[in-house]
Amino acid sequence: MRRNSVFFQALVFFGLLLPGAEARAFTLSYSSALQGWQGTTLTFKTNFSNCGMPVAELYSAVDQALELWNTVPTSRLRLERGDEVTTTVAQALAGSAASGLPTPLLICDPDMENTFRVGVSPNLDPDPAFSSNNIPAVTVQAPTALTLDYAVLVLNSESGRSARVSNLVPTTLAVVLAHEIGHVLGLGHTADPVNLMYYDATARTRLSLSQDDMDGVAYLYPRGEPGQNGLFGCGTLTVGGEGPPRGPHGGVAALAEFGMVLVLAALGTRFLKSKTWRMA
Ligand SMILES: [Zn+2]
Repeated sequence: MRRNSVFFQALVFFGLLLPGAEARAFTLSYSSALQGWQGTTLTFKTNFSNCGMPVAELYSAVDQALELWNTVPTSRLRLERGDEVTTTVAQALAGSAASGLPTPLLICDPDMENTFRVGVSPNLDPDPAFSSNNIPAVTVQAPTALTLDYAVLVLNSESGRSARVSNLVPTTLAVVLAHEIGHVLGLGHTADPVNLMYYDATARTRLSLSQDDMDGVAYLYPRGEPGQNGLFGCGTLTVGGEGPPRGPHGGVAALAEFGMVLVLAALGTRFLKSKTWRMA
């Protein structure tokens, strides 16, 4: 009976462990050592003057996409929508953190195919086969070493193209934005359609994050432990005193607070290199 019990526990353990290892499939842009953006708040500026659709609808979709990433309880990063700016696509794609241009920036490009076929900056990797007919958005990032400090999320507003943002239903628009914002944060593509960071959003009808998506953003932006500011002690003891006995043997000490740190090995995590720019 006892032997059966141990065997059952072992099965449960591996039954939980193996799917967990498989599920750790998020990837990072550029490098497995990427550290993402610095700080705890990331403000996305917008230029929606050339989107060919009501700006209020875009704001609504952007807010839904940002709030989705804000629901990850294990991430320290808070995303917010900032001011409307006048930066052009050409300026943004040629910019950098040092240029002082607003970043990250969400902007519509009514000439998207030309932009990404020809390229507007020697830093970009223009693709001769780029077609704006089925690409709703592209995210361009400019990392500094292993940190991210500049990103442009370009939305397709090219006339006559099926993937232009004004042709997307509201849910799909929010999904596309949330996926691209994932790239802005430093996440790469995954191979599992259950993830928002899967490369193809065609079949996705719901705005949601998978465990992998949440694991990815929490990996890049882990929350600080309460107590790093010295507010909480670890295993604090109150010694002696004239109060009543606090323990079973006369109470020399009372335990006030214990901190426990669990170190999780990142077994099975896969990282894939990414291109300079990427698309939904
Ligand atoms: Zn993508």
